[in-house]
Amino acid sequence: MDQRSEVTERFAEGAQFIAGSLRSGTSGRTQDVVDPATGETVLRYELSGTGDVDAAVAAAARAFPAWAGATPGERSDTLHRFAAALAEDAADLAAAESLNCGKPIKLSKEFDVPGTIDNAAFFAGAARHLEGKAAAEYSGDHTSMIRREPVGVVGSIAPWNYPLQMAAWKVLPAIAAGNTIVLKPAEITPLTSLLFAQAAQRAGLPDGVLNIVSGAGRDAGEHLVGHPDVAMTSFTGSTAVGKRVAEIATGTVKRLHLELGGKAPFVVFDDADLEAAVHGAVAGALINTGQDCTAATRAYVQRPLYDAFVSGVADLMATVRLGDPFDPSTDLGPLISHTQRDRVAGFVERARGYATVVTGGEAPQGELAKGAYYRPTLIAGAAQDSEIVQSEIFGPVLVVLPFDSDDEGLALANDTPYGLAASAWSRDVYRTGRATRELNAGCVWINDHIPIISEMPHGGAKASGFGKDMSAYSFEEYTQVKHVMYDITGVARKDWHRTIFGDRG
Ligand code: NAD
Repeated sequence: MDQRSEVTERFAEGAQFIAGSLRSGTSGRTQDVVDPATGETVLRYELSGTGDVDAAVAAAARAFPAWAGATPGERSDTLHRFAAALAEDAADLAAAESLNCGKPIKLSKEFDVPGTIDNAAFFAGAARHLEGKAAAEYSGDHTSMIRREPVGVVGSIAPWNYPLQMAAWKVLPAIAAGNTIVLKPAEITPLTSLLFAQAAQRAGLPDGVLNIVSGAGRDAGEHLVGHPDVAMTSFTGSTAVGKRVAEIATGTVKRLHLELGGKAPFVVFDDADLEAAVHGAVAGALINTGQDCTAATRAYVQRPLYDAFVSGVADLMATVRLGDPFDPSTDLGPLISHTQRDRVAGFVERARGYATVVTGGEAPQGELAKGAYYRPTLIAGAAQDSEIVQSEIFGPVLVVLPFDSDDEGLALANDTPYGLAASAWSRDVYRTGRATRELNAGCVWINDHIPIISEMPHGGAKASGFGKDMSAYSFEEYTQVKHVMYDITGVARKDWHRTIFGDRG
């Protein structure tokens, strides 16, 4: 899939996957899918319009009764076959993800694709563990039980940074729980969502259970969120767009799951393993060229380690190899687009006015100049309330600040609107224990930063949103709980009728 002609051929019929077949959008507007490493267009397709969204929602609504009525075992079998189909397609998926996003091929092969296959395998198992909680005679006259039911048609919207994994995180728990879904990938990164849907179809997922609309946020996205036949909106993206999505979803009283932006702190106490912290910070800041909602973005380092940390990170960043994403030795690929690269460069240029760029802070020249590349960048000397410390940059940029007391380090770490992820580095179990309690984020790592696993939830606090992806916790989003109450007395005139009939018996 690394050849332009192959992509064009594969999606010749269009980039919408509705009711089990690929078709063209009908918006009358086209979108270029661009390889960010070269700036070349690899596919031009017609965007989904509101009519295509309507068709996809109708297909999902038609497929819902049968899919919701399938046994957990039947859904599980399909998901096991889906995991196997994704494994067969692993090489193609990795190549398409690298081509579309500029990800180094070793990242696509060792993280995005295996993570997606593992998620499918996890939800194949989890589908059989959906259960209601209680069956008891709480009133004495009734047996109460809980039914856990799918919500209906889910409308999901995904970002461009991990298109394949975001499709997996949105789709798998939803369909494992018996919902049907319409997924809108980011319009610039539709390729692997479409391949994902095709693998599902090969695995026997009934037509209409999973539909992909490749469309723009303003029209296809908003139409999907506001659609009266969509029961739930699950959105991953920026906090700004998440607020707009919440407004529309609230207007139609939809269940809402929001995975939004992040600005993860990385807190290094003075007894930390310096080598581990330096390597962890560079890897945690640069993964996916920093376009990761949980990336390490703000390193707070206790004063005794501060200078050594700054020079260690700067030296290590300088060894990171930028290059062709398909070269197995490339460590860092381009950003998703030239627009995103220029946005990141804008943050750094403004920061020069109030802070020091220790290393990086520029786009490479020569062969790489045509791609959306930007050098790994370390910034020191910025104030806590400055833009570079407070705003999500979504690029290979780490800011480092010193702190004195543990109280101060933890307070600074919590001092942004976001609360998606955080890490603390120390050899002292009491310090790290305190950090796990006081860092206000959906995930806290101790002596590491970034790893995720299918069995554990991912989701934010504060302006990073609410609800969980992955793990059995995600079923809380994608199911509704129904209380069922059986009379077990067989008595026609119930005791509580006294409240109506009084002493007439
Ligand atoms: P974005 O918010 O610009 O777009 C996300 C999606 O929303 C895209 O599909 C886009 O087309 C769509 N969209 C845009 N405007 C819309 C509208 N008015 N109505 C409906 N949909 C609309 O985000 P992005 O730039 O694609 O992705 C980067 C952002 O995603 C970052 O903020 C990052 O932190 C966040 N993110 C969060 C998580 C998480 O799990 N919390 C994971 C990955 C990315």
